[in-house]
Amino acid sequence: MDQLTIYNSQTRQKEIFKPIHEGHVGLYVCGPTVYSDVHLGNCRTFITFDMISRYLTFLGNKVRYVRNITDAGHLENDADEGEDKIAQRAKLEQLEPMEIVQKYTLGFRQVMAVFNSIPPSIEPTATGHIVEQIDMIEDIIKKGYAYEVNGSVYFDVTKYDASYGYGELSGRKIEDMISGTRTLDGQSEKRNPLDFALWKKAGPNHIMRWNSPWGVGFPGWHLECSVMSSKYLGETFDIHGGGMDLKFPHHECEIAQCTVAHDKNPVNYWMHANMLTLNSAKMSKSTGNTLLPMELINGNNAFFDRGFTPSIVRFFMMMAHYRSTLDFSKNALESAEKAFLKIQDTYFELGDMDAGDINKVVEIKTLEQKAKAALNDDFNTPQCIAVLHELAKLVRTTSGLDTESIAAAQLLLHQYVEEVMGVQFIKPVDSLNSKEGELVNMLINLRQDAKLSKNWAQADAIRNELKDIGIEIKDSKDGTTWTKL
Ligand code: AMP
Ligand code: ZN
Repeated sequence: MDQLTIYNSQTRQKEIFKPIHEGHVGLYVCGPTVYSDVHLGNCRTFITFDMISRYLTFLGNKVRYVRNITDAGHLENDADEGEDKIAQRAKLEQLEPMEIVQKYTLGFRQVMAVFNSIPPSIEPTATGHIVEQIDMIEDIIKKGYAYEVNGSVYFDVTKYDASYGYGELSGRKIEDMISGTRTLDGQSEKRNPLDFALWKKAGPNHIMRWNSPWGVGFPGWHLECSVMSSKYLGETFDIHGGGMDLKFPHHECEIAQCTVAHDKNPVNYWMHANMLTLNSAKMSKSTGNTLLPMELINGNNAFFDRGFTPSIVRFFMMMAHYRSTLDFSKNALESAEKAFLKIQDTYFELGDMDAGDINKVVEIKTLEQKAKAALNDDFNTPQCIAVLHELAKLVRTTSGLDTESIAAAQLLLHQYVEEVMGVQFIKPVDSLNSKEGELVNMLINLRQDAKLSKNWAQADAIRNELKDIGIEIKDSKDGTTWTKL
């Protein structure tokens, strides 16, 4: 496939990707609600879109990648009633809500860095865009698609459905949704149970609150994404992504809000990553069926008796297509490890190889075309990996590759595994030569500097990263030493 095609969840078909402005891509992905540690399911979605953003860049596009941080407005059970998830956690940990936000935002960024994800171009927060959210609500009220009741503002889904049609993305019909929704014993102030909150009046105990034309309150969860995506990417932009579970109601509501506010279809391509499961059930914070990234990496968990490096975990995720579910099991991770090490060994063997006179450049270029065709087919990473195995086989079964062929094979592996899939090759510690040993010493000195300037986070990060590649640091009164694990 010469051109990139993307499966558009809205039209339910693969379409040739044409950005609005050639050479530039606007990508928006719903980010985490920062009220607890991100689990590996969340990571799968963000790693998927990291790969997607990397591939779009690899194809020569300038990507503006916006991934928000939800730090207000996301209520328990993803509903319009109940406590704010962040405020709830703040009470539990006896911290300010903004301390919770800071703690888990930093934790999220650290985890993303461990998995070698490139930070987005913009990482806007809901609380940083309250003014813009109020503006959009006023606009929607003015256009007649929202109403105020007792200090709260709701979006009128029935009216919207009559004008524009609601439910196209998730393939739901409003009549079915109505019959499937129970009214809360007439307690709800909404005109219709399907209506959703744009602004909620804050009760006396609600600690995250702002002034608005409707009194003191807070924004509804769906609004921030409509506001921030259009602010930074335009009223219509190229790609909107998120996990499959956000299709309804979150993305459906985003579409409705933007369509009314801007009278335009907001997104050209909707992309949804499928769920990561653990023991065949969705990994989820609320059910407790979770595994934290560091628990998987250091092996300190109830499911596996050993750890797996970030490269192996990321490669494992790349071995499944992003639209398929992926189940964590020891067997699956171990076969991913075997597969990855085969490719990694090939990469390092190429570096140490003595060149002969066999030229395989034509074959290698053909494989490159196949790897690209796989990714052009809706980012088919498992297919791409199959091609990389073909390359590894070619390298292993040909003795005496010439310099040009060695360089071509190395480049292909570097570009597709490291640059696009974002999986780093890490030289096994056993084969560290003296120069590489010096590099480890250099990192230890940097960590020493970090400690002197009380930058504990950096010092810990260096120690943890070295541990991930099998090097353990020991501090004693005589200084710091390192050993191979
Ligand atoms: P949240 O912080 O709950 O809003 O979730 C952040 C992102 O992670 C969203 O895009 C979710 O769709 C995604 N997500 C949540 N659980 C999973 C899972 N088990 N597998 C893959 N993605 C998930
Ligand atoms: Zn969102």
